[in-house]
Amino acid sequence: MDNHVYKPYPLVICPYCSSNCIESGGSKKYSLHDHFVKYFQCADIICTQCGKSLDWWDVVYKNILSANEPSTMAILGAESVAIKITMTPKEYKELSLVEYGIPEEANILDISYTHYAGDFFAVETDWYRPKWFPRPHVLKLYPIPNEEGTPEEKPFDVGVFVTWILGKADEVAWQNLIHAFRYYLNRNYEFAIIPANTAVESTLSRLIQNFLERFISKKKVKDYFGNNEAKYSHLLNILLPLSTKLKGITLLCDNIYIELDELRKFRNKMGHNGNLENPIDENKITRLLCAALFGFHYLKFIEPNL
Ligand SMILES: [Zn+2]
Repeated sequence: MDNHVYKPYPLVICPYCSSNCIESGGSKKYSLHDHFVKYFQCADIICTQCGKSLDWWDVVYKNILSANEPSTMAILGAESVAIKITMTPKEYKELSLVEYGIPEEANILDISYTHYAGDFFAVETDWYRPKWFPRPHVLKLYPIPNEEGTPEEKPFDVGVFVTWILGKADEVAWQNLIHAFRYYLNRNYEFAIIPANTAVESTLSRLIQNFLERFISKKKVKDYFGNNEAKYSHLLNILLPLSTKLKGITLLCDNIYIELDELRKFRNKMGHNGNLENPIDENKITRLLCAALFGFHYLKFIEPNL
């Protein structure tokens, strides 16, 4: 491969030294899960660069708040690569992302292009595709002259910056989290609320169903959930703390319970009215997204022992 690849990410910024404070990123699914587990267990999380002890909630909150696609999505476990390729004016180029370490099953979140000197630039042949449409893993790039006239036909360089994440499309909760973060990055804060809440609610609902079925008949549990009697507020505020206490499992921190309950209330307003009476501010939606991400990882953490 004669193209140049630079892999500076994942980029989870340390609040103390502003460097990347973690070692690995999205090369495995839920790649930062271990960091969340350490937080729940009150274990030390150390910045790999400056060695300071990190408050993981603070790190996650600030990285989301940066509203910078690589850092915000890196908190979900996304990775980015920067690729520099050389094209010639009369040839189209196929760029297979697998060759640059991006797995076949990855969900491509974003691709952006940088053009350097020269009379040509490159476009994808499916450039009209909506930004959020699933992206192909083989990019077809065509050279286009910068302007009318007689361009100088010499090779030109193109920078391709790709951000991607692992997670199958059928994993509803995970996909909802990704959607919530993308709405957030587009500053559609209200629209981030329902998918963020759904990510936690759907996961919790499944866990509590499985938990109850160990003590009560499947039919009764099915009726309880099927007749809409299993309100999310009960699951979150009563059955989750009750079941974790009974099992002697590490409890979810009160501050996250409070934020998740507030997210639930915002979700109800969105579900019932279609919008919020007053716009939600950036700090509030950031805390709610942060809580949804912690809630999701917490449920993944306790699932094997519940
Ligand atoms: Zn640091």
